[in-house]
Amino acid sequence: MSNGKSILVDVSRCTGCRGCQVACKQWNNLPATKTIQTGTYQNPPDLNGETYKIVRFAEGRGEDQKPYWNFLSDMCRHCVNPPCIAASNDGDSMIHDEATGAIIYTPKTAEDDYEMALEICPYKIPRKNEKTGALTKCTMCFDRITNGLIPACVLSCPTDAMRFGDRDEILKEVERRVTELKKTYPKAKAIDAADVRVIYILTDDPDKYGEYVQA
Ligand code: SF4
Ligand code: SF4
Repeated sequence: MSNGKSILVDVSRCTGCRGCQVACKQWNNLPATKTIQTGTYQNPPDLNGETYKIVRFAEGRGEDQKPYWNFLSDMCRHCVNPPCIAASNDGDSMIHDEATGAIIYTPKTAEDDYEMALEICPYKIPRKNEKTGALTKCTMCFDRITNGLIPACVLSCPTDAMRFGDRDEILKEVERRVTELKKTYPKAKAIDAADVRVIYILTDDPDKYGEYVQA
């Protein structure tokens, strides 16, 4: 088996433009979520059954009392050994694609245990589509990547904060980029790189980007 595919998300390059969030909606033909302004650019407030990707905006003050405002383009990590598949009660409602490593939820997940899938996911990603009852999340743009295209979110990113490619190459790039970033950001590190296919490089402590950023 090949080592599959991976996506690198380098938050040091992210401007919080939310182009990736919109591109995900467009490619997957997902309707807009009606929201209200709640004092943050994080909108809608969370992932939902029709929102597979969300740019999280985290703000606060660091130990030095200086304010921070961090952006994180959150999505399914496509775990190397996905725990969520344990919530699949008929064994084929969730597919682990051998060639790419992508984890895909099918409409059969309507019969699966949503609470268990959410509980068991370290990053709290799965959501239930209220109209169909199926569980939903990012598919790694499986229909695109198996036709020689890159995921819509990666394509849309104007700053190259996201890269897609063969996992071995992405892992090398992760290592190179962390070394480079450490010169400016001593706390720079890759998150759970050995266990997930969507690898985030952060420049600050994980808890300064959101609640379930690290397993
Ligand atoms: S991040 Fe969560 S939903 Fe995605 S593959 Fe891993 S356990 Fe499953
Ligand atoms: S498209 Fe790129 S820069 Fe814009 S929010 Fe997404 S990751 Fe950040």
